[in-house]
Amino acid sequence: MDSVEKYDLYSIPPRWLLLKIETAEGLIGWGEPILEGRTKTTAGAVEELMEGYVLGKNPERIQDIWELLYRGGFYRGGPILMSALSGIDQALWDIKGKRYGVPVYNLLGGPVRDKIKIYSWIGGDTPDQVVQGAINRVSEGFKSLKMNVAGKMERIETPLKVREIARRFREVREAVGPDVDLAIDFHGRVSKSMFVRIAEKLEEYQPMFIEEPIINSHPRELGELKSKIQTPIALGERLYTRLDFRPYLEERAVDILQPDLSHAGGITECVKIASMADAYDVDMAFHCPLGPVALAACLQVDAVSHNALIQEQSLGLHYNEGFTLTDYVVNAEVLTGENGYLSLPEGPGLGIELDESALAEVEGMGREWKNPVWRSEDGSLAEW
Ligand SMILES: [Mg+2]
Repeated sequence: MDSVEKYDLYSIPPRWLLLKIETAEGLIGWGEPILEGRTKTTAGAVEELMEGYVLGKNPERIQDIWELLYRGGFYRGGPILMSALSGIDQALWDIKGKRYGVPVYNLLGGPVRDKIKIYSWIGGDTPDQVVQGAINRVSEGFKSLKMNVAGKMERIETPLKVREIARRFREVREAVGPDVDLAIDFHGRVSKSMFVRIAEKLEEYQPMFIEEPIINSHPRELGELKSKIQTPIALGERLYTRLDFRPYLEERAVDILQPDLSHAGGITECVKIASMADAYDVDMAFHCPLGPVALAACLQVDAVSHNALIQEQSLGLHYNEGFTLTDYVVNAEVLTGENGYLSLPEGPGLGIELDESALAEVEGMGREWKNPVWRSEDGSLAEW
Protein backbone atom coordinates (compact mmCIF):
# COMPACT_ATOMS: atom_id res chain seq x y z
CA MET A 1 0.00 0.00 0.00
CA ASP A 2 1.26 3.44 -0.93
CA SER A 3 1.03 6.17 1.71
CA VAL A 4 1.07 9.95 1.88
CA GLU A 5 4.64 10.78 2.87
CA LYS A 6 5.16 14.53 2.76
CA TYR A 7 3.80 17.84 1.59
CA ASP A 8 4.95 21.36 0.75
CA LEU A 9 3.09 24.64 0.46
CA TYR A 10 4.00 27.33 -2.05
CA SER A 11 2.76 30.85 -1.39
CA ILE A 12 3.34 32.46 -4.77
CA PRO A 13 2.42 35.60 -6.67
CA PRO A 14 0.01 36.89 -7.66
CA ARG A 15 -2.05 35.60 -4.69
CA TRP A 16 -2.00 31.84 -4.95
CA LEU A 17 -1.23 28.99 -2.55
CA LEU A 18 -0.27 25.63 -4.02
CA LEU A 19 -0.01 22.33 -2.15
CA LYS A 20 2.30 19.53 -3.28
CA ILE A 21 1.67 16.09 -1.81
CA GLU A 22 4.15 13.24 -2.31
CA THR A 23 3.58 9.57 -1.68
CA ALA A 24 6.06 6.95 -0.47
CA GLU A 25 6.07 5.48 -4.00
CA GLY A 26 7.08 8.85 -5.41
CA LEU A 27 3.80 10.02 -6.91
CA ILE A 28 3.21 13.77 -6.75
CA GLY A 29 -0.14 15.56 -6.65
CA TRP A 30 -0.95 19.27 -6.71
CA GLY A 31 -3.80 21.13 -5.09
CA GLU A 32 -4.75 24.78 -4.66
CA PRO A 33 -6.02 25.31 -1.11
CA ILE A 34 -6.65 29.02 -0.96
CA LEU A 35 -9.11 31.47 0.42
CA GLU A 36 -8.36 34.81 -1.18
CA GLY A 37 -7.11 37.30 1.40
CA ARG A 38 -6.61 34.59 4.05
CA THR A 39 -3.56 32.79 2.69
CA LYS A 40 -1.78 32.27 6.01
CA THR A 41 -4.90 31.10 7.80
CA THR A 42 -5.66 28.61 5.04
CA ALA A 43 -2.03 27.42 4.99
CA GLY A 44 -2.25 26.87 8.75
CA ALA A 45 -5.40 24.82 8.30
CA VAL A 46 -3.73 22.73 5.58
CA GLU A 47 -0.79 22.03 7.90
CA GLU A 48 -3.08 20.95 10.73
CA LEU A 49 -5.15 18.71 8.47
CA MET A 50 -2.14 17.17 6.73
CA GLU A 51 -0.23 16.51 9.93
CA GLY A 52 -3.22 15.48 11.99
CA TYR A 53 -5.08 13.29 9.50
CA VAL A 54 -3.49 12.76 6.09
CA LEU A 55 0.22 11.86 6.47
CA GLY A 56 0.65 8.09 6.47
CA LYS A 57 -2.79 7.45 4.96
CA ASN A 58 -3.46 5.43 1.83
CA PRO A 59 -3.94 8.11 -0.90
CA GLU A 60 -6.27 5.80 -2.81
CA ARG A 61 -8.97 6.32 -0.18
CA ILE A 62 -9.88 9.86 -1.20
CA GLN A 63 -13.49 9.65 -0.08
CA ASP A 64 -12.53 8.35 3.34
CA ILE A 65 -9.87 11.05 3.78
CA TRP A 66 -12.49 13.63 2.71
CA GLU A 67 -14.94 12.38 5.34
CA LEU A 68 -12.19 12.30 7.95
CA LEU A 69 -11.18 15.90 7.24
CA TYR A 70 -14.81 17.02 7.17
CA ARG A 71 -16.34 15.05 10.03
CA GLY A 72 -13.31 13.95 12.02
CA GLY A 73 -12.63 17.24 13.77
CA PHE A 74 -16.10 17.87 15.28
CA TYR A 75 -16.28 21.42 13.80
CA ARG A 76 -16.88 21.37 10.06
CA GLY A 77 -17.58 23.46 6.99
CA GLY A 78 -16.94 27.15 6.45
CA PRO A 79 -14.50 28.92 4.15
CA ILE A 80 -11.19 28.14 5.89
CA LEU A 81 -11.58 24.45 6.65
CA MET A 82 -13.32 23.73 3.36
CA SER A 83 -10.67 25.60 1.31
CA ALA A 84 -7.92 23.60 3.04
CA LEU A 85 -9.83 20.36 2.46
CA SER A 86 -10.47 21.33 -1.17
CA GLY A 87 -6.77 21.68 -2.00
CA ILE A 88 -5.92 18.38 -0.31
CA ASP A 89 -8.72 16.68 -2.23
CA GLN A 90 -7.47 18.07 -5.56
CA ALA A 91 -3.94 16.83 -4.86
CA LEU A 92 -5.17 13.35 -3.96
CA TRP A 93 -7.16 13.14 -7.21
CA ASP A 94 -4.07 14.29 -9.13
CA ILE A 95 -2.12 11.45 -7.50
CA LYS A 96 -4.82 8.91 -8.29
CA GLY A 97 -4.96 9.92 -11.95
CA LYS A 98 -1.18 9.72 -12.23
CA ARG A 99 -1.14 6.30 -10.56
CA TYR A 100 -3.43 4.89 -13.26
CA GLY A 101 -2.11 7.10 -16.07
CA VAL A 102 -5.49 8.65 -16.87
CA PRO A 103 -7.17 12.06 -16.50
CA VAL A 104 -9.21 12.39 -13.31
CA TYR A 105 -12.41 12.66 -15.39
CA ASN A 106 -11.84 9.11 -16.64
CA LEU A 107 -11.97 7.92 -13.05
CA LEU A 108 -15.25 9.84 -12.61
CA GLY A 109 -17.08 8.10 -15.44
CA GLY A 110 -15.46 9.67 -18.48
CA PRO A 111 -16.12 12.95 -20.26
CA VAL A 112 -19.52 14.02 -21.58
CA ARG A 113 -18.00 16.83 -23.65
CA ASP A 114 -14.75 17.64 -25.48
CA LYS A 115 -14.41 21.25 -24.41
CA ILE A 116 -16.14 23.80 -22.20
CA LYS A 117 -17.20 27.35 -22.95
CA ILE A 118 -15.20 29.89 -20.93
CA TYR A 119 -15.80 33.51 -20.06
CA SER A 120 -13.55 36.42 -19.35
CA TRP A 121 -13.91 39.27 -16.90
CA ILE A 122 -14.03 42.81 -18.20
CA GLY A 123 -13.56 46.05 -16.34
CA GLY A 124 -12.18 45.07 -12.95
CA ASP A 125 -13.95 45.85 -9.71
CA THR A 126 -15.73 48.93 -10.99
CA PRO A 127 -17.58 49.42 -14.23
CA ASP A 128 -15.18 51.98 -15.74
CA GLN A 129 -13.85 51.39 -19.22
CA VAL A 130 -15.83 48.22 -19.72
CA VAL A 131 -16.81 49.04 -23.27
CA GLN A 132 -13.25 49.02 -24.56
CA GLY A 133 -12.44 45.98 -22.46
CA ALA A 134 -15.39 44.12 -23.94
CA ILE A 135 -14.40 44.99 -27.50
CA ASN A 136 -10.84 43.83 -26.81
CA ARG A 137 -11.95 40.52 -25.34
CA VAL A 138 -14.29 39.73 -28.19
CA SER A 139 -11.49 40.47 -30.66
CA GLU A 140 -9.31 37.99 -28.71
CA GLY A 141 -11.91 35.31 -29.42
CA PHE A 142 -14.07 35.29 -26.27
CA LYS A 143 -17.76 34.73 -26.88
CA SER A 144 -18.78 35.18 -23.24
CA LEU A 145 -17.94 38.02 -20.89
CA LYS A 146 -18.75 39.02 -17.32
CA MET A 147 -18.77 42.47 -15.80
CA ASN A 148 -19.76 44.49 -12.78
CA VAL A 149 -22.42 47.08 -13.49
CA ALA A 150 -22.65 48.57 -10.03
CA GLY A 151 -19.98 50.04 -7.80
CA LYS A 152 -20.71 50.93 -4.19
CA MET A 153 -24.43 50.80 -3.50
CA GLU A 154 -26.64 52.32 -0.84
CA ARG A 155 -29.46 50.14 0.47
CA ILE A 156 -31.93 52.30 -1.47
CA GLU A 157 -30.46 54.04 -4.48
CA THR A 158 -31.63 57.05 -6.45
CA PRO A 159 -33.20 56.86 -9.93
CA LEU A 160 -29.99 58.37 -11.30
CA LYS A 161 -27.89 55.45 -10.04
CA VAL A 162 -30.35 52.93 -11.49
CA ARG A 163 -30.27 54.74 -14.83
CA GLU A 164 -26.43 54.72 -14.83
CA ILE A 165 -26.32 50.98 -14.17
CA ALA A 166 -28.68 50.32 -17.07
CA ARG A 167 -26.73 52.67 -19.30
CA ARG A 168 -23.41 50.92 -18.59
CA PHE A 169 -24.83 47.56 -19.48
CA ARG A 170 -26.61 48.88 -22.56
CA GLU A 171 -23.37 50.42 -23.83
CA VAL A 172 -21.53 47.12 -23.57
CA ARG A 173 -24.39 45.22 -25.19
CA GLU A 174 -24.47 47.70 -28.05
CA ALA A 175 -20.68 47.49 -28.45
CA VAL A 176 -20.49 43.67 -28.67
CA GLY A 177 -23.83 42.98 -30.31
CA PRO A 178 -26.45 40.34 -29.59
CA ASP A 179 -24.28 37.29 -30.33
CA VAL A 180 -22.09 37.51 -27.21
CA ASP A 181 -23.02 36.19 -23.76
CA LEU A 182 -22.86 39.05 -21.28
CA ALA A 183 -23.10 38.07 -17.64
CA ILE A 184 -23.38 40.52 -14.76
CA ASP A 185 -21.90 40.16 -11.27
CA PHE A 186 -23.74 42.19 -8.63
CA HIS A 187 -21.18 40.96 -6.05
CA GLY A 188 -23.85 40.99 -3.35
CA ARG A 189 -23.83 44.79 -3.47
CA VAL A 190 -27.48 45.26 -4.36
CA SER A 191 -30.06 45.16 -1.58
CA LYS A 192 -33.19 43.04 -1.61
CA SER A 193 -35.22 46.23 -1.94
CA MET A 194 -33.42 47.36 -5.08
CA PHE A 195 -32.90 44.09 -6.89
CA VAL A 196 -36.09 43.85 -8.95
CA ARG A 197 -36.04 47.55 -9.79
CA ILE A 198 -32.51 47.25 -11.22
CA ALA A 199 -32.87 43.81 -12.79
CA GLU A 200 -35.99 44.92 -14.71
CA LYS A 201 -34.02 47.74 -16.32
CA LEU A 202 -31.38 45.27 -17.52
CA GLU A 203 -33.68 42.64 -18.94
CA GLU A 204 -34.18 44.13 -22.38
CA TYR A 205 -30.40 43.68 -22.99
CA GLN A 206 -30.68 40.01 -22.00
CA PRO A 207 -27.88 39.30 -19.52
CA MET A 208 -26.65 35.71 -19.58
CA PHE A 209 -27.15 35.70 -15.81
CA ILE A 210 -26.99 37.95 -12.79
CA GLU A 211 -24.48 36.66 -10.22
CA GLU A 212 -24.83 37.15 -6.45
CA PRO A 213 -27.91 39.34 -6.98
CA ILE A 214 -28.12 39.99 -3.26
CA ILE A 215 -25.73 38.96 -0.51
CA ASN A 216 -25.75 35.23 0.19
CA SER A 217 -27.60 33.81 3.18
CA HIS A 218 -31.13 34.74 2.13
CA PRO A 219 -32.33 31.82 0.01
CA ARG A 220 -36.04 32.34 0.68
CA GLU A 221 -35.94 36.05 -0.10
CA LEU A 222 -33.94 35.36 -3.24
CA GLY A 223 -36.46 32.73 -4.33
CA GLU A 224 -39.19 35.36 -4.12
CA LEU A 225 -37.13 37.91 -6.06
CA LYS A 226 -36.24 35.41 -8.77
CA SER A 227 -39.91 34.73 -9.49
CA LYS A 228 -40.31 38.40 -10.44
CA ILE A 229 -37.66 38.58 -13.17
CA GLN A 230 -36.69 36.65 -16.29
CA THR A 231 -32.89 36.82 -16.07
CA PRO A 232 -31.18 33.62 -14.81
CA ILE A 233 -29.74 33.87 -11.29
CA ALA A 234 -26.28 32.52 -10.43
CA LEU A 235 -24.48 32.23 -7.10
CA GLY A 236 -22.33 30.01 -4.95
CA GLU A 237 -18.75 31.24 -4.71
CA ARG A 238 -19.34 31.96 -1.01
CA LEU A 239 -21.05 28.65 -0.23
CA TYR A 240 -19.27 25.54 1.05
CA THR A 241 -20.44 21.90 0.82
CA ARG A 242 -23.70 20.43 -0.47
CA LEU A 243 -25.48 21.54 2.68
CA ASP A 244 -24.89 25.24 1.96
CA PHE A 245 -26.29 24.88 -1.56
CA ARG A 246 -29.34 22.89 -0.56
CA PRO A 247 -31.64 25.75 0.56
CA TYR A 248 -31.04 27.68 -2.67
CA LEU A 249 -32.23 24.68 -4.65
CA GLU A 250 -35.15 24.03 -2.35
CA GLU A 251 -36.28 27.67 -2.48
CA ARG A 252 -36.02 27.69 -6.31
CA ALA A 253 -33.69 30.66 -5.87
CA VAL A 254 -31.10 29.83 -8.56
CA ASP A 255 -30.66 28.84 -12.19
CA ILE A 256 -26.89 28.39 -12.06
CA LEU A 257 -24.68 27.26 -9.17
CA GLN A 258 -21.12 28.53 -8.90
CA PRO A 259 -19.21 26.47 -6.34
CA ASP A 260 -15.49 27.13 -6.21
CA LEU A 261 -13.36 23.98 -6.54
CA SER A 262 -10.96 25.49 -4.00
CA HIS A 263 -13.62 26.44 -1.43
CA ALA A 264 -16.53 24.04 -1.72
CA GLY A 265 -14.82 20.72 -1.01
CA GLY A 266 -12.71 20.05 -4.09
CA ILE A 267 -13.45 17.62 -6.89
CA THR A 268 -15.13 15.08 -4.63
CA GLU A 269 -17.76 17.49 -3.34
CA CYS A 270 -18.28 19.55 -6.50
CA VAL A 271 -19.23 16.46 -8.52
CA LYS A 272 -21.91 15.84 -5.91
CA ILE A 273 -23.10 19.45 -5.91
CA ALA A 274 -23.41 19.32 -9.72
CA SER A 275 -25.40 16.13 -9.48
CA MET A 276 -27.68 17.59 -6.83
CA ALA A 277 -28.21 20.70 -8.97
CA ASP A 278 -29.10 18.58 -11.98
CA ALA A 279 -32.01 17.13 -10.03
CA TYR A 280 -33.42 20.70 -9.88
CA ASP A 281 -32.64 21.46 -13.56
CA VAL A 282 -29.96 23.90 -12.38
CA ASP A 283 -26.74 24.48 -14.36
CA MET A 284 -23.16 24.84 -13.16
CA ALA A 285 -20.59 27.59 -13.75
CA PHE A 286 -17.69 26.75 -11.46
CA HIS A 287 -16.14 29.83 -9.88
CA CYS A 288 -12.42 30.17 -10.61
CA PRO A 289 -10.61 33.52 -10.36
CA LEU A 290 -7.67 31.49 -9.00
CA GLY A 291 -4.56 29.76 -10.31
CA PRO A 292 -3.72 26.90 -12.66
CA VAL A 293 -4.37 23.94 -10.35
CA ALA A 294 -7.84 25.18 -9.38
CA LEU A 295 -8.74 25.65 -13.05
CA ALA A 296 -7.41 22.22 -14.01
CA ALA A 297 -9.54 20.76 -11.20
CA CYS A 298 -12.61 22.63 -12.52
CA LEU A 299 -12.07 21.18 -15.99
CA GLN A 300 -12.17 17.65 -14.56
CA VAL A 301 -15.60 18.30 -13.07
CA ASP A 302 -16.84 20.19 -16.15
CA ALA A 303 -15.85 17.11 -18.14
CA VAL A 304 -18.22 14.79 -16.29
CA SER A 305 -21.08 17.17 -15.45
CA HIS A 306 -23.77 17.29 -18.13
CA ASN A 307 -25.11 20.48 -16.56
CA ALA A 308 -21.78 22.38 -16.72
CA LEU A 309 -22.73 25.53 -18.61
CA ILE A 310 -19.60 27.65 -18.71
CA GLN A 311 -16.26 27.93 -16.88
CA GLU A 312 -14.70 31.01 -15.28
CA GLN A 313 -10.92 31.41 -15.66
CA SER A 314 -8.44 34.07 -14.63
CA LEU A 315 -6.47 34.74 -17.81
CA GLY A 316 -6.06 38.52 -17.83
CA LEU A 317 -7.95 38.94 -14.56
CA HIS A 318 -7.30 42.28 -12.87
CA TYR A 319 -6.16 40.65 -9.61
CA ASN A 320 -3.29 38.91 -11.38
CA GLU A 321 -1.42 42.19 -12.06
CA GLY A 322 1.88 41.34 -13.71
CA PHE A 323 1.33 37.59 -13.55
CA THR A 324 -0.67 35.24 -15.64
CA LEU A 325 -2.50 31.96 -15.20
CA THR A 326 0.12 29.94 -17.03
CA ASP A 327 3.30 31.44 -15.51
CA TYR A 328 4.29 28.27 -13.65
CA VAL A 329 2.78 25.74 -16.04
CA VAL A 330 5.05 23.79 -18.37
CA ASN A 331 2.23 22.69 -20.68
CA ALA A 332 0.59 26.13 -20.78
CA GLU A 333 -1.43 25.25 -23.89
CA VAL A 334 -3.68 23.08 -21.69
CA LEU A 335 -5.06 26.19 -19.96
CA THR A 336 -5.14 28.40 -23.05
CA GLY A 337 -8.56 28.76 -24.59
CA GLU A 338 -9.41 28.99 -28.24
CA ASN A 339 -12.47 30.66 -29.76
CA GLY A 340 -14.08 30.97 -26.36
CA TYR A 341 -13.59 27.34 -25.34
CA LEU A 342 -11.07 25.35 -23.28
CA SER A 343 -10.39 21.76 -24.32
CA LEU A 344 -10.32 19.10 -21.65
CA PRO A 345 -6.76 18.36 -20.46
CA GLU A 346 -5.64 14.95 -21.72
CA GLY A 347 -2.72 14.30 -19.36
CA PRO A 348 -2.88 12.06 -16.29
CA GLY A 349 -4.32 13.40 -13.06
CA LEU A 350 -5.29 17.05 -13.33
CA GLY A 351 -3.41 17.21 -16.63
CA ILE A 352 -1.09 20.10 -15.86
CA GLU A 353 2.62 20.01 -15.31
CA LEU A 354 4.06 22.63 -12.98
CA ASP A 355 7.52 24.14 -13.27
CA GLU A 356 8.90 23.37 -9.82
CA SER A 357 12.07 25.44 -10.19
CA ALA A 358 9.97 28.47 -11.16
CA LEU A 359 7.78 27.83 -8.12
CA ALA A 360 10.79 27.46 -5.82
CA GLU A 361 12.10 30.84 -6.98
CA VAL A 362 8.96 32.70 -5.91
CA GLU A 363 7.94 30.60 -2.89
CA GLY A 364 6.97 32.90 -0.02
CA MET A 365 6.35 35.84 -2.33
CA GLY A 366 2.59 35.40 -2.57
CA ARG A 367 0.95 38.79 -2.27
CA GLU A 368 -1.01 39.69 0.81
CA TRP A 369 -4.06 40.40 -1.26
CA LYS A 370 -6.95 42.05 0.55
CA ASN A 371 -10.25 43.01 -0.94
CA PRO A 372 -11.10 46.71 -0.83
CA VAL A 373 -13.20 47.91 2.09
CA TRP A 374 -15.97 50.24 1.00
CA ARG A 375 -17.99 52.57 3.19
CA SER A 376 -21.27 54.30 2.51
CA GLU A 377 -21.70 58.08 2.70
CA ASP A 378 -22.61 57.82 6.38
CA GLY A 379 -19.47 55.87 7.22
CA SER A 380 -21.03 52.44 7.64
CA LEU A 381 -19.61 49.46 5.79
CA ALA A 382 -20.88 48.79 2.28
CA GLU A 383 -20.60 45.47 0.41
CA TRP A 384 -17.63 45.15 -1.91
MG1 LIG B 1 -18.56 36.68 -8.30
